[in-house]
Amino acid sequence: MNILITNDDGIEAPGIRRLAEAAKEFGNVVVVAPASQCSAASHSITLRHSIEVHPHDFPVAGVKAYSCSGTPADCVRVGALNVMPQKPDVVLSGINLGFNMASDIQYSATAGAAFEAEFQGILAIALSESFDAKHHEVTDHYLHRVLEKLLKEQYVPGQILNVNFPGCPLSECKGILWDRHVSRLAYYEDHYEVLQQFPDGGMELQVEGVHTPQIEEGTDYAAVMGGYVSVGKARNIGYALSDR
Ligand code: MN
Repeated sequence: MNILITNDDGIEAPGIRRLAEAAKEFGNVVVVAPASQCSAASHSITLRHSIEVHPHDFPVAGVKAYSCSGTPADCVRVGALNVMPQKPDVVLSGINLGFNMASDIQYSATAGAAFEAEFQGILAIALSESFDAKHHEVTDHYLHRVLEKLLKEQYVPGQILNVNFPGCPLSECKGILWDRHVSRLAYYEDHYEVLQQFPDGGMELQVEGVHTPQIEEGTDYAAVMGGYVSVGKARNIGYALSDR
């Protein structure tokens, strides 16, 4: 199995290394990841500049890695079309530092890279975990099992698979829920703090998110808040209304 891995936190992020380490047991892994942090870039691509791809010294034995000046979606495009000798069988995106669930998926470039893989006709799995690095033991415990099952899935047009690992200690994790819907709520309710008013009537703003725990049964958000690993499907544009 040929596996392309990318992320949106950049090629130096610890999450992509842990993912490459776990994934190499299942096949030949190539990493093409952004040179810098690209979180919340969604599915954006580079059109008005060229893109550079360079071999990158990556600390996982047996894994070839390239850093890319473009976005996570660019990494999937040039990775699948130019860097890899043949189209990959699967694209893995992550492991993102921070959940990508509920309506936040739409801003996520971890998910954006997976959505690009779907456009390319490739099975795509986005993986994210709690921002709280104290408790990544749930991820490290369940990652192999999740990959083992999801890597056997068939490509379904319009669809990506989306995984979130909760931030609780392993002893409090209740297991995996495999069929979660995407919640319409959001982890943070955002507002904008006015940092400065300008003489011309303009202003400088800073986004501020307040975590608002709300539970919609059956959803990714409820699963993670309840101490479960959440696995679900998200739909690309053109398929949004077909599955609920
Ligand atoms: Mn990120």
